[in-house]
Amino acid sequence: MISFKDVSKHYPNGTTAVDRLSLELPEGGITVLVGSSGCGKTTTLRMVNRMVEPSSGTVSVAGRDVLAADAAELRRGIGYVIQQAGLFPHRTILDNIATVPLLLGWGRRKARARAAELLELVGLPGDSGKRYPHQLSGGQQQRVGVARALAADPPVLLMDEPFGAVDPVVRTQLQNELLRLQSELRKTVVFVTHDIDEAVRLGDRIAIFRTGGHLVQCAPPAELLASPADDFVAGFLGAERGLKLLSLSTLAELPQEPAPADGDRWRLVTSERGEPLGWRDTEGPDGDRAPLLPVRALRDGDSLLTALDESLASPAGLVARVDADGVLTGVTGRERIHEFAGRQHAEAGRAAALKNPADAPEAAEAPEAPETGEAGGDSQDSDDTPASDPSVTA
Ligand code: ADP
Repeated sequence: MISFKDVSKHYPNGTTAVDRLSLELPEGGITVLVGSSGCGKTTTLRMVNRMVEPSSGTVSVAGRDVLAADAAELRRGIGYVIQQAGLFPHRTILDNIATVPLLLGWGRRKARARAAELLELVGLPGDSGKRYPHQLSGGQQQRVGVARALAADPPVLLMDEPFGAVDPVVRTQLQNELLRLQSELRKTVVFVTHDIDEAVRLGDRIAIFRTGGHLVQCAPPAELLASPADDFVAGFLGAERGLKLLSLSTLAELPQEPAPADGDRWRLVTSERGEPLGWRDTEGPDGDRAPLLPVRALRDGDSLLTALDESLASPAGLVARVDADGVLTGVTGRERIHEFAGRQHAEAGRAAALKNPADAPEAAEAPEAPETGEAGGDSQDSDDTPASDPSVTA
């Protein structure tokens, strides 16, 4: 969809902002450009809509060299979102969103109707359309920025640190909104950030740049985390790569087992409806009267990072799992999470080795995989879990 072939950008003052970049950005996915300040991310992004023209090499969108296209026409197919939204202060929210449709000659009524539709799509109340940008919070303004970029339904969306200026809580909300929108709209998104956690959350693929405009590695987040190409990438990803990798998968990936019952030391006490209430230590001095230790029941959609955290907090080392109604369905032991993490590393390492066989010859050998998800599924083989005593019924 978007392709860079041997693209460089040198500024007249002698700065090389981008150095011989070759990169293909797949259609319908989010590619995050990440790296420290000044490494050429914004320059790369702006070459897509020709706000910056390459010094050499070819940038093409949908198979067409951007330099051969009419710039105005090119930009109509490319939404652009920047930090602090960049809204027109003297226009209402609705008119801000309708900017491009009006430029395209849609007519006022149709443009406004589309703007109202987008307001809803990005989660803003309908009456905010009549307000002016300064009457909205930073996070709301950013939503308007996204709505404006989407107004003419462009296939490509360029986002330059769009959530850089809002507080962490709002930032997380906006990230979630973007993922929700993207699951419906499937735009080809290029997203610039210097925040690796944001990159891991949002990216289908992450391209890591280093100073001087060099692309160091471009891969799906799991592959990057499990197999960083070099020390620079590893350093940029930070010390907790294993935990970040776990954050990419959900509890649905792991089998569950029956909750421990009479005869086990730790019992999961539930309400009449079957909702987990807490853990009881049946071997403590108070026996059946022992106070309950807290349990945080998790659902299939919770991340494995959350599950690991809960398994560490649980006295039994078990995660209590519930269905959509909050009713207990079973438990998963912390060793299942460890096994999964091991498999995930091995698989991502293999994928990386297949791409670059010369770089990692040993990793291309199949490392011994512990067991498959299915094999662990019914827990017949799980002599390592406290829940597997067959003499105990729930
Ligand atoms: P990033 O987005 O990663 O922070 P940029 O793409 O903005 O990096 O900038 C890359 C390099 O190019 C930096 O050294 C920056 O100072 C330089 N640069 C950006 N724009 C210009 C310009 N118009 N003239 C000269 N140098 C520039």
